[in-house]
Amino acid sequence: AVVVEQLVKDFSGVTVLQNINLDIEEGEFFALLGPSGCGKTTTMRCIAGFEQPTDGIIKIGDETVNDIAPNNRNCGMVFQSYALFPHMNVFDNVAYSLNVSRLKSSNPLKKMGIYTRMLNSKLAKYPKDIEEKVNDILEYVELEDHAKKLTSELSGGQQQRVALARALVMEPEVLLMDEPLSNLDQKLRHSMRNTIRQIQQDLKITTIFVTHDQEEAMSMADRVAVMKDGEILQIGTPTDLYSHPQSPFIADFVGKSN
Ligand code: ATP
Repeated sequence: AVVVEQLVKDFSGVTVLQNINLDIEEGEFFALLGPSGCGKTTTMRCIAGFEQPTDGIIKIGDETVNDIAPNNRNCGMVFQSYALFPHMNVFDNVAYSLNVSRLKSSNPLKKMGIYTRMLNSKLAKYPKDIEEKVNDILEYVELEDHAKKLTSELSGGQQQRVALARALVMEPEVLLMDEPLSNLDQKLRHSMRNTIRQIQQDLKITTIFVTHDQEEAMSMADRVAVMKDGEILQIGTPTDLYSHPQSPFIADFVGKSN
């Protein structure tokens, strides 16, 4: 579960999040929905630990994580831009975090250097358990035939599945997805909705999904928080929001197709 209590975030004295409260249940697929600039990404980045809240508490599981580094928060992240390593093949991209988390150095740049040298070495071989784990997850996202391709050789939908595999291979407690479908064409977007929802249900992984697309949020999420100007206006199931919108903004925003 993820709990956010009275989260406030200022950037240079400008308040972009005010009093955000969320209580996301274990295994829930939760969408943060709202127009561009309303603060969805900033909320997500505070949960992931990439931004420090100005005020408020973030809990993941039973633990308050405000002082815990992003790498130790047990969150898997998928971004709009995939954020894959283009010079590495699919397998290496997915194995990256598993392998790096085993390397001794605590310096991330040094770890990256050791890892790159390891990949470049002809002798590079993964430990068997890592190899199996990565192969399993690639099969799961139906990319087993592409394991040796560079990610730059893949389609957008395939790259997003690599990103998903890379997030899931760490077996995170929470999956954070920031506009993961918005770079895909419409047809792919629809099929990826089903893929993501299916995987989320299979794994029962608590998921926070950021989107500005009301149809996406309403068709995928168990519950949706509608945000505007740094505040949450209403939280409810898609049915609640459709049938009992608490303001004309909500009625208009969740009702229209954009
Ligand atoms: P979008 O869908 O366009 O990404 P969003 O709802 O995710 O929008 P945020 O990216 O969270 O919105 O941005 C919320 C507000 O905070 C915006 O006004 C943005 O300009 C501001 N903001 C975000 N990051 C920073 C930063 N690092 N420094 C200053 N202002 C920022």
